[in-house]
Amino acid sequence: MTTSFRFLVILGLLILCGVALSIFRCEGTPPSIELASPILVGKTGADVSIQVSDEGSGWREVRVILEHADGEMPLLAIESTGGLIFGSQATTAGNTFAVKIDPAALKLRDGDAFLNVTARDWSWRNFFSGNEQQSRVPVLVDLTSPRIVVESGLTYVKRGGAAAVTYTIGELTRRDGVEVEDHFYRGYPVDEGGRRVAVFAVPENGTSDPSIRVVAEDLVGNTTDARWASRVQERDFPKVPIRLPARFLERKVPELAAHLGMNADDPVAAFQAINSETRSQNEARIAELIQNTEPTKLWNGVFHQLRNSKVTSRFAERRSYLFDGKKVSQATHYGYDLASTAGAPVTAANDGKVLFADDLGIYGGCVLIDHGLGVVSLYGHLARIDVKAGDSVLRGAELGTTGETGLAGGDHLHFAILVGGTYVDPLEWWDPKWMRERIEARIGVPAP
Ligand SMILES: [Zn+2]
Repeated sequence: MTTSFRFLVILGLLILCGVALSIFRCEGTPPSIELASPILVGKTGADVSIQVSDEGSGWREVRVILEHADGEMPLLAIESTGGLIFGSQATTAGNTFAVKIDPAALKLRDGDAFLNVTARDWSWRNFFSGNEQQSRVPVLVDLTSPRIVVESGLTYVKRGGAAAVTYTIGELTRRDGVEVEDHFYRGYPVDEGGRRVAVFAVPENGTSDPSIRVVAEDLVGNTTDARWASRVQERDFPKVPIRLPARFLERKVPELAAHLGMNADDPVAAFQAINSETRSQNEARIAELIQNTEPTKLWNGVFHQLRNSKVTSRFAERRSYLFDGKKVSQATHYGYDLASTAGAPVTAANDGKVLFADDLGIYGGCVLIDHGLGVVSLYGHLARIDVKAGDSVLRGAELGTTGETGLAGGDHLHFAILVGGTYVDPLEWWDPKWMRERIEARIGVPAP
């Protein structure tokens, strides 16, 4: 009796365990499949990352098939190590598969395709074949480079100057504009018809005969470039020695150093640090501020020079700073210095939107105005600022007053223009003929 009772108990327990295992192993949750959608395939192909996981019993099999006009191509078929009794503990946490879609190897043509991912798990469901999950993701195959048609004819650009070029591209782009050597100047739409414009610069310190071309990258990453007739007119910039006056080092430098939180026990060393390190930090900050200018042209006609002002320093002067007959520092002067009466009103050179209006190291009280299409004007050494970031301004609007804040030896306005992050000669932007013929006629602004 006891023996058979024991036997029955054990049998009962075994049946219970079997039922429990069956219920457990018959879980009905299919594997999860994750991948980006849609998949863009350009000439260089696409690397697709597929994550498959199955918390219930582990994934058992993963198959990846590319379906396209010419048929189906298997890209991956893999089975996990596991078994029907316990499933696969190794694959419950999931795995990532890298699948390469190589258009040359697969002989793909332009058009739409689909990537079909199927995963099964180790569940006992469906007569032990497991739960199945499918994911079908659209694949856009585009093996054609964008076609650039440059509209502008022969283009002259002065060393340290700017120019505009218009072009059309037959398709949507991820990135397009002009490259001058390795510096990229973004292009913007001119009209609904697909015409685009890039205002670009030939930097004051670049290599001679730089490579200038319109470049484009389409939505799947195919790139192309187009050259057109452009000529760089070289020029030399003056070398200007500046003797640092003792009163400047004794008064201005310690004052500015204190303002910047720097030590000025040695005023020459403090000047050197401000003129190099602080200067580069300030330029980095400006580069950051002007990253995303307005995609439309906000300016209107020629830029205006500060009223009744006298030029005291020009663009791209190579300055050497001397003390006690020795060169202690150097810098390139990226703008024009304009002197008027002390505390004269500083006005906007053209219509635009205030990007920045605050204290900025060597520039002291500084205002940056975004004129659109990557063109920005800078006003430095202001004693007072009357605008704030975000304000829209018209040409002639008062921004504040001139002063000698920052690294300035006397009351004046430091005025500069940047094109796509490159400082250019403001003289061009003040010239109505240049503005009309070189820029506005190109963009297609009707003559006033
Ligand atoms: Zn200056």
